[in-house]
Amino acid sequence: DPYIALAGVRKGYRIGGEAIPIFSALDLAIPRGDFVAVMGPSGSGKSTLLNMLAGIDVPDAGSLSIGNHRLDRMGEAARSTWRAHNMGIVFQFYNLLPMLNAAENVELPLLLKPLSARERRVRVGKMLDLVGLSGREKQYPSMMSGGQQQRVGIARAIVSDPGLLLCDEPTGDLDRKSADEVLEMLSFLNRQLEKTIVMVTHDPQAARSAKRTLHLDKGQFVERAAS
Ligand code: ADP
Ligand code: ADP
Repeated sequence: DPYIALAGVRKGYRIGGEAIPIFSALDLAIPRGDFVAVMGPSGSGKSTLLNMLAGIDVPDAGSLSIGNHRLDRMGEAARSTWRAHNMGIVFQFYNLLPMLNAAENVELPLLLKPLSARERRVRVGKMLDLVGLSGREKQYPSMMSGGQQQRVGIARAIVSDPGLLLCDEPTGDLDRKSADEVLEMLSFLNRQLEKTIVMVTHDPQAARSAKRTLHLDKGQFVERAAS
């Protein structure tokens, strides 16, 4: 079975009395260990798809399973627990808490786990080391470059060792050099740590870092060979 499977997913929104369909019958299969870039015009449903994979949003109909768990059949509380244990999310604008330093930001997901303060500190240190930020534990986000903040965001996303990483425009706010460093890091996490990655992006360079690209248009996926 694929790690992620969507079958016949329907999803739309109601604005006032008007129903706006986004997906009428979306199918998708992603094997474990894949690194998929999702591209498509603004409004094509990329964020909606990512929100469904994250269990933040649910399909109106159809099935959505990740690792044999039916997200479409879980309630909100179960989805949020599932999310905390199984996935990390990397955001375009990092979503770091400004009043917390780098180490405290990375530590946040671990506060849900039965770990001692010492175990958490060791784990956070390893993660900051992995993203090339050891020595910057005490720095606050406002003192860091965008690229450094995104690396803190990546460390936070993987600190609980989730199998799945969802990335929403991870290079969208970065200069080319920082963007390439972030992409290098995502490729490393995919190849060496076997993270499955689904990344929404407008950045063609980011898409080239992925193993394959899915183009979302008019509610359907169109797969294209890597360019
Ligand atoms: P993200 O992928 O980071 O969520 P999107 O590009 O998907 O951002 O856009 C989210 C929403 O914001 C969409 O509904 C889109 O129509 C709107 N949007 C995106 N970019 C612009 C823009 N430059 N100007 C106006 N609206 C935008
Ligand atoms: P993308 O990320 O590709 O820009 P989105 O998933 O953000 O696309 O949006 C797909 C369509 O659904 C857009 O037309 C958007 O305006 C609409 N949409 C997204 N979220 C909502 C919402 N919460 N309420 C109403 N309409 C929404």
